[in-house]
Amino acid sequence: MPLYEFRCAADCGPFEWSFPMADVPGTTRCPRCDRDAVRRVSPPRLGHGSSSAMNLLDRTKRSAHEPDVVTGPPPSTTAGRSAVTSNPLHRRLPRP
Ligand SMILES: [Zn+2]
Repeated sequence: MPLYEFRCAADCGPFEWSFPMADVPGTTRCPRCDRDAVRRVSPPRLGHGSSSAMNLLDRTKRSAHEPDVVTGPPPSTTAGRSAVTSNPLHRRLPRP
């Protein structure tokens, strides 16, 4: 059964409830305060974000509107110039 999103008339916030597609009510009871909650129209959750590809897409979309603040260069993963290459022939090259 698909999940449907409802919003409580009070300030309980949105919640999701599962109903058969043929019997979806327009309103239901809030599980917290037992008041009426109206069904909201929301986009379907295709893919549901558990894969790394979905996480990458979400992060890319979010960074377009909320870019991370960078205060400096990323930490260096190589230790000095010797880690640039491991080819022994490069040791013969002139050094600056
Ligand atoms: Zn409520």
